[in-house]
Amino acid sequence: MVSMWLCLVGLLAHTQAADHCSPEGGVCQEDHHHCSGEYHSGLCPGGVHNRCCMPTGSHSSGCPGLTIVSRSQWGARAPKSVSHLRNPVSQVFIHHTETPACFNEHDCSVRMRGIQNFHMDSRGWSDIGYSFLVGEDGRIYEGRGWDKVGAHTKGYNSVALALSFMGSYMTHNPGKAALDAAQAWLGCAISKGMITSSYKLYGHRDAGSTDCPGDSLYALIRTWSHYDHHGKPHH
Ligand SMILES: [Zn+2]
Repeated sequence: MVSMWLCLVGLLAHTQAADHCSPEGGVCQEDHHHCSGEYHSGLCPGGVHNRCCMPTGSHSSGCPGLTIVSRSQWGARAPKSVSHLRNPVSQVFIHHTETPACFNEHDCSVRMRGIQNFHMDSRGWSDIGYSFLVGEDGRIYEGRGWDKVGAHTKGYNSVALALSFMGSYMTHNPGKAALDAAQAWLGCAISKGMITSSYKLYGHRDAGSTDCPGDSLYALIRTWSHYDHHGKPHH
């Protein structure tokens, strides 16, 4: 009996070492087994029931190289109301928050809660305005999410997703970690079917009178391959 138990433990340890599916220690296993966390799809080979059991508190984006801090992880309030987008959308707007930047998950989570409070309590919106935000820590923070109408770009909220860089980018650009995260997020949005593979990218100022996302960041995004130099955003 004891030797069988040892054998089983050895087998499990071996399986876990071989089948890690997230940097935080997620493990691929058949999803009828108990998971002391949450199951996530799309990260494990084999059948649909071979899924990634991730420890509670870990970050799953379902996309390689991309860390998404979920609403519950940064401590979001519940939205006052929710409207659904029709995905995939074909336009993405880039913003900046014009707040101080943040460089670790704790500080960025504090910043997220502050922005959400400002948008809900001072602006009177139903939730934080942006679809997603990105910190100088290289993490993506879930705002309204992939498939919800936001309050970010007047006239385009129901036909676009918005990614906002946390910081103020008039005279300098976000660091490499944030820029890499933004590119990974765009790729992830395509792979999940949330934006079209031929999506057009704009800065907030392309849709209205604002200096958002800052002179420096605006000049940078105009070098990105999906930036629309020839057209205008459409409603
Ligand atoms: Zn903006």
